[in-house]
Amino acid sequence: MAVNIGLDFTLPYSYVKATLTLSLLTVWVLVGLFQYLNRYTQRNYFSTWTAAWLFYAIFLTLNITLQSTPPNAFLVMWKNWSVGTSAIFLLWGSFRFLKFRAPQSFVIGLVLLLSVWSYYAARQGETGLWVQAPAFLLLGAGSGVTAYAYMQVRRKRNMVGAGLLSFGFSLWGLYLTCYPFLELSKQLISMAFFISAMLQLFIAVSMIVLVLEEVRATAEFNRKRLLTAKTRQKILHSRVRSSEDRYRKLFEQASEAIVIASADDLKILEMNDAARLLLAASNLNQSDITLSRFCLVGQGGQNSAQEWFTWLTQQRQVQVIRSTGSTVQAEVTGSPIWFAGRKAYQFFFRELTERGRLEQQLRHVEKLSAIGQMISGISHELNNPLTSIKGYLELILARHELPGQTRVDLQRVAEESNRAANIVQNFLTFSREQSNEFRAVEVKQLIESAVDLRKFEMRASGVELDLDFAHELPSVRANADQIKQVLVNLINNSLYAVDDQPEKRVRISVRFSDLLVQIRVQDNGPGIPEAHRSKIFEPFFTTKPVGKGTGLGLSIAHTILKEHEGRIFYEPATIGGAGFVLELPAAHPELNFQPASTPAQQNESPMNFTTTNPARILILDDEITIAEMLGEMLELLGYSAVKCNAPRDALDLITRETFDIILSDYRMPHMNGQQFYKAAITKRPSLARRIIFLTGDVVTRETQEFLASTGNPHLAKPFQLVRVEKLISEVLEREAVAAEAA
Ligand code: ADP
Repeated sequence: MAVNIGLDFTLPYSYVKATLTLSLLTVWVLVGLFQYLNRYTQRNYFSTWTAAWLFYAIFLTLNITLQSTPPNAFLVMWKNWSVGTSAIFLLWGSFRFLKFRAPQSFVIGLVLLLSVWSYYAARQGETGLWVQAPAFLLLGAGSGVTAYAYMQVRRKRNMVGAGLLSFGFSLWGLYLTCYPFLELSKQLISMAFFISAMLQLFIAVSMIVLVLEEVRATAEFNRKRLLTAKTRQKILHSRVRSSEDRYRKLFEQASEAIVIASADDLKILEMNDAARLLLAASNLNQSDITLSRFCLVGQGGQNSAQEWFTWLTQQRQVQVIRSTGSTVQAEVTGSPIWFAGRKAYQFFFRELTERGRLEQQLRHVEKLSAIGQMISGISHELNNPLTSIKGYLELILARHELPGQTRVDLQRVAEESNRAANIVQNFLTFSREQSNEFRAVEVKQLIESAVDLRKFEMRASGVELDLDFAHELPSVRANADQIKQVLVNLINNSLYAVDDQPEKRVRISVRFSDLLVQIRVQDNGPGIPEAHRSKIFEPFFTTKPVGKGTGLGLSIAHTILKEHEGRIFYEPATIGGAGFVLELPAAHPELNFQPASTPAQQNESPMNFTTTNPARILILDDEITIAEMLGEMLELLGYSAVKCNAPRDALDLITRETFDIILSDYRMPHMNGQQFYKAAITKRPSLARRIIFLTGDVVTRETQEFLASTGNPHLAKPFQLVRVEKLISEVLEREAVAAEAA
């Protein structure tokens, strides 16, 4: 039994015109929509599709016309032709959409073929199914391809609109394929046009959905792009900021003065702290000042900023005038740069004062070292003949009954040879190769013994001496002889300086602070002019007339104090003239104070020529004159001396004969003192404490250590008769006591 639910999907034939018009309207909607899309998206397949819809609209219009006119073969021809052309354009658009290349000539060929076929069918008066079916089949196929194309979009981009379009075009294709058959039925045709209108509307709505989706996707894409761009911009900003920070730190902390000046008018645009310090420009308003005002301009008369820049960068050095008015020498380099979007010049200034001072110091040290080596060689050669001269003079003066005037003259020769020996000693000190025994020395005692040496002269020339010692003074770590030599030299210079003064004053004061002992030697002489102050410590600088000064005193003092890890410097005296400050490190409390014996004390020992001494002494020195002279000295003192000039001969003598003492030179060819000592005590161990070494001018640290390890005494050349006598009798006495005790 059939159930009627009241729904009726049929439309009477009389509705055909109305449904056709509805279908036409929906097609125009599509034409408008596709044209709009063509215009705004500039995608060429939309224009092709628009054409397809236009031809379809023509087909519908002709169809409407045909409803109210008798069948006309030519109208049918145009109807066929427009459907076929619509199909061709729809296909072509879809191929374009799918990026298949369909050549234009092929499309034109198809249209022509269609035209010929439609015309031929019309001429034959054919309006039947076989004429219409292929054209609609082609249009159905075109719709199918478009459906496929949108299916691809749906798959790739997951868009609902694309899915709907694919669905819509599939149905529309199906409808078109069936259309020639539907046209044959008067019951179905109205309904068919109505369905086609609905499908076209569906395609239009789907297209709108797709467009909206695309707009949304594009907006999303743009939003993301904007975000990425913003993030990138932020990163770039932070990079720029950090590199700017780094540059600024480099700029501000650079030790060199950096100034950036405008390339138009040299106005200072930027400068670092070092530049502010160099130009003394901290208090100036940077934007108002030009760089040229800080530099002494050359002779060229630079007119433009460019000329000024060229001139400045060609100079190796430039005189910088500070804002305070003082000047300073600086090295300058410069280069053109871009600064804050405009041309500028960047300059680097290097102050030369400190560098110059260091270079000067280096030159001074190099000079000292070269001179030192030369002097060391000369002094060494002079020391031996001087030893002989002094020794023989002493012998002559001690031994012979001389006429009064001859004795006086010889005594003068002895004094002069002493002076020469002192000069040689000075030279040796200067060459820094002398013995360097550091001990804890009491400053007060040291100064007093230095003053004692010049006391007589001071009193004779009416010099008022003022000694001022701080209450508590530590010992200093020093070589007493050397520091005394420095002090005597300073006192001599002061005495020379005050010689012309009506009231002559010399003041020596000692203070202690910060582990340093400061000894000040001042006078009220004329002082030292500013121009000389940088030169007085250089060797051979003297303002004294020939014969009065060597120009070595202060230079030697400088060397000695440096070896003491102290320093000497000039400062104007508080009592009017020149002042020198000796700075010495305080001795470590653990070091025992051992006052060093001074040459003056050595001279004071009494001499006893009358003693007849049977002791046998072997003299070993490769210098024949010195061996001879010593032999004579010893004989004068009553000893029996055997002279020998080669260590091997001496070793032979030791094995054969007995000696109470051996006086042995230290520096000899083939065998030095140390080697001789070892060989000698191997042959005769009893001689171990009976060898006295004769040391020359140069005592190396190694020699010093060896001498200290044996505990044996040594005589430094040039030696005095008294010293020889004293040392020999001390050794003999000590050995006699040791023998008794044994
Ligand atoms: P010398 O005394 O042999 O010239 P120095 O090295 O001791 O050598 O001194 C160098 C120069 O320093 C002296 O020639 C003198 O011009 C200057 N000088 C040193 N001490 C004084 C002083 N107390 N007063 C003035 N000038 C001095």
